[in-house]
Amino acid sequence: MKLKDIQVTNPYLNLPELCYDRVKPSPLVDAYLIHANLSMAQQLGIDKEELDTRHFVNFVNGAMELEGSDPFAMCYAGHQFGFFVERLGDGRAINIGSITTPIGNQHLQLKGAGLTKYSRDGDGRAVLRSSVREYLMSEAMHGLGIPTTRALALIGSAHSVYRGKWEKGAIVLRVSPSWVRFGTFEYFAHHKKYEELKALADYAIAESYPHLLDEADKYLHFFTEVVGQTAILMAHWQAVGFNHGVMNTDNMSIAGLTIDYGPYAFLDDYDFGYICNHTDQFGRYSFGSQPAIGEWNLKALMQALSPLVETEKMEKVLSHYSRLYNERYLYLLGKKLGLDRLEEDDLELFRHLLGMMQGLRVDYTLFFRTLSHYDGDRTALLKVGLYHKPMHDWLDSYDERLKKNSSSTEERHAKMLMINPKYVLKNYMLQEAIEAAGKGDYTLVDSLFKIAQHPYDEHLEFERWAGSTPDELKNKKLSCSS
Ligand code: AMP
Ligand code: MG
Repeated sequence: MKLKDIQVTNPYLNLPELCYDRVKPSPLVDAYLIHANLSMAQQLGIDKEELDTRHFVNFVNGAMELEGSDPFAMCYAGHQFGFFVERLGDGRAINIGSITTPIGNQHLQLKGAGLTKYSRDGDGRAVLRSSVREYLMSEAMHGLGIPTTRALALIGSAHSVYRGKWEKGAIVLRVSPSWVRFGTFEYFAHHKKYEELKALADYAIAESYPHLLDEADKYLHFFTEVVGQTAILMAHWQAVGFNHGVMNTDNMSIAGLTIDYGPYAFLDDYDFGYICNHTDQFGRYSFGSQPAIGEWNLKALMQALSPLVETEKMEKVLSHYSRLYNERYLYLLGKKLGLDRLEEDDLELFRHLLGMMQGLRVDYTLFFRTLSHYDGDRTALLKVGLYHKPMHDWLDSYDERLKKNSSSTEERHAKMLMINPKYVLKNYMLQEAIEAAGKGDYTLVDSLFKIAQHPYDEHLEFERWAGSTPDELKNKKLSCSS
């Protein structure tokens, strides 16, 4: 499909008017393409040749009117660091329409395309560094098989944006099957707009859980699905070593997707208490707190849904969250260790493993990848930790456990290499790409994009990123200003 033939729909605009505000994008000056995501374009049905054209830059810059276009920003509230803020909303994201694809409606959104009714004190813009991070990271999560929003393209510009110093503005064209947040429900519940609340719930069910449309207790089932999807998402984050950093309820997706990439990080050395967000003074959103915060956020959603469903029934559903989370997390850990099936004693093996990794300052990704080649020779693994004895002790238990596995060593290796990535986009790698991009060199953005899409492949040309993070660059914190 050519860009000029794209037809968009705007199903969100069928909701009551309080839910959104119509607003036109304000294009950046002298915009240029930094990167386009060919696989996303293919999914949307956009021709490859279109991606190199001026039209495409205009499209991503919000400077091209699509057929059916009626752009708008969405209204929501949210708990930020535990405190309720009664109106947030898309302060710098503008929805430019939805495209129907074989995998359902995909909603296009420009992040950084200017002011909206919900911008509060902000300027509606996004800077290059945070846009590079979101663009690459959403694709990396997708490559890892973790539910996430994605992106079609990243553009830079000559537009000056102030963030303590002057930086350059950028736009990411984000794509998602849903942009509804827990906080969207909180907005209408807080303002006692129950008709809107109900309409929003019906919309979210049709959009993300259509199998529930004809269920008698559909709102209860809807909450049940969100609880389940959130538990699964948290298990994925913990198993892969991802710290989101800003798990406010406005950054929680009703469809269970990873959304709103800010000061996130992949773990370097394994550290349960790691805090990636510089402004998170007390570690509310630390790596180890994420599953519990997921539950806290679901409780906030439960309260917002209480005008539609009996709270007691939802409480019962929520009481299963920990079990759902644990089951999925342990399942993923078992897979990462190449175990054919879980046994009761495995819990002890996992505890022992995480304690060992924490004590030895083991690079999380490197450890599991190295273990994916383990055949009894411990040389390579011992190099991954600071001390030897705790690693030997754990490997002794692991050797014992493997005796109960029925797959052969080769089969185990093959399976482990498909769940333990060789590469994750650590912050030091992104930083390198951002610094080069700031000087107009996008080669590293392109390299990291390749890694992001195929994190389990060997990519021998990028081997320097497969080792542990250089000591001076480990476990850094990032600021929220983006
Ligand atoms: P975030 O922490 O990025 O998820 O943003 C929290 C809220 O602040 C959302 O309502 C955003 O739309 C809004 N926001 C963040 N940065 C800006 C900005 N530069 N201009 C306008 N609104 C913003
Ligand atoms: Mg947000």
